[in-house]
Amino acid sequence: MTTPIYARMAVIGCGLIGSSIIHAARAAGAVAEVAVADSSPQHRARIVELGYADQVTADPAEAARDADLVVLATPVLAMSGACAQAAPAFKPGATVTDVGSVKAPIAEALQPLMPEGVFLVPGHPIAGTEYSGPDAGFAELFQNRWTIVTPLAREDDSYLEAVQQLVDFWRALGANVDRMEEKHHDLVLAVTSHLPHLIAYNIVGTAADLEEVTQTEVMKYSAGGFRDFTRIASSDPTMWRDIFLANKDAVLEILGRFTEDLQALSRAIRWGEGDKLFDLFTRTRAIRRGIIAAGQESPEANFGRDHRA
Ligand code: NAP
Repeated sequence: MTTPIYARMAVIGCGLIGSSIIHAARAAGAVAEVAVADSSPQHRARIVELGYADQVTADPAEAARDADLVVLATPVLAMSGACAQAAPAFKPGATVTDVGSVKAPIAEALQPLMPEGVFLVPGHPIAGTEYSGPDAGFAELFQNRWTIVTPLAREDDSYLEAVQQLVDFWRALGANVDRMEEKHHDLVLAVTSHLPHLIAYNIVGTAADLEEVTQTEVMKYSAGGFRDFTRIASSDPTMWRDIFLANKDAVLEILGRFTEDLQALSRAIRWGEGDKLFDLFTRTRAIRRGIIAAGQESPEANFGRDHRA
């Protein structure tokens, strides 16, 4: 029997990510006791039925009381409200983390809410599916995935210990852990995750609006590429609305560059500049092959379910 990393963990907002953390932490013996706060009565009833929490409540403060680790796992724009409700109950010495897909605005909003002696260590597991809610979670979600922690600019020993304890926790859940500065995280994720989602939402919307092509034809002839776009575009609307609003600056910067590159491609097509198209497609193929060769991605792994926010 291993000693738990945290005796009591509170999860505030228990959907896909919150419930996956609970399953994975239980499986690893990383926590002894789990309390959940969720604003949805249906989700609370379901969590009680599923039986993976010791305490289920609507009140974030009740769940956070006596917790050694508090995990905020609500949609991004609900984080600070939920944290403000829970903060009066935070125990001195506790670690508060979050799993939000955007880091700089969350850290800025949460930091002023921390009572003295409570350690805020923001984080982001780069793992997910297009499903949401407390039924969607599973223990293996974080296995061999990256979790990025974005610690505050603090160098005192007690804070560094709290960071290391959270890193150990994520590793116990099967994740690889990286540290990053929060603004850099938001730029990296804007290009690797947020822009691809925006493209998927847009292309599925464009196809649906085409008058010359029927919906039946879109479904019937959708080859792999478009099918993958429809899967990504079925991701939770609340979560993605919040991500784009919160990561506005980085997304607009990347979108600006993307639009310029798209204009160049469109000009190459218009003027029949096949060599430009061929050069780009050759370069992108080499990038993909390089990623696989570096062992960072197996094309088959999680095919059909992988979706990282
Ligand atoms: P989810 O399945 O929709 O779960 C969120 C849960 O939080 C729901 O039960 C929701 O209830 C509840 N909630 C909303 N506002 C609340 C509040 N103020 N207090 C307490 N509970 C509240 O979402 P998720 O996919 O787990 O995502 C959670 C967070 O993880 C987001 O910040 C997201 O950016 C991040 N993330 C997601 C992924 C992914 O792929 N899904 C990956 C990495 C990180 P209602 O449904 O009734 O609102």
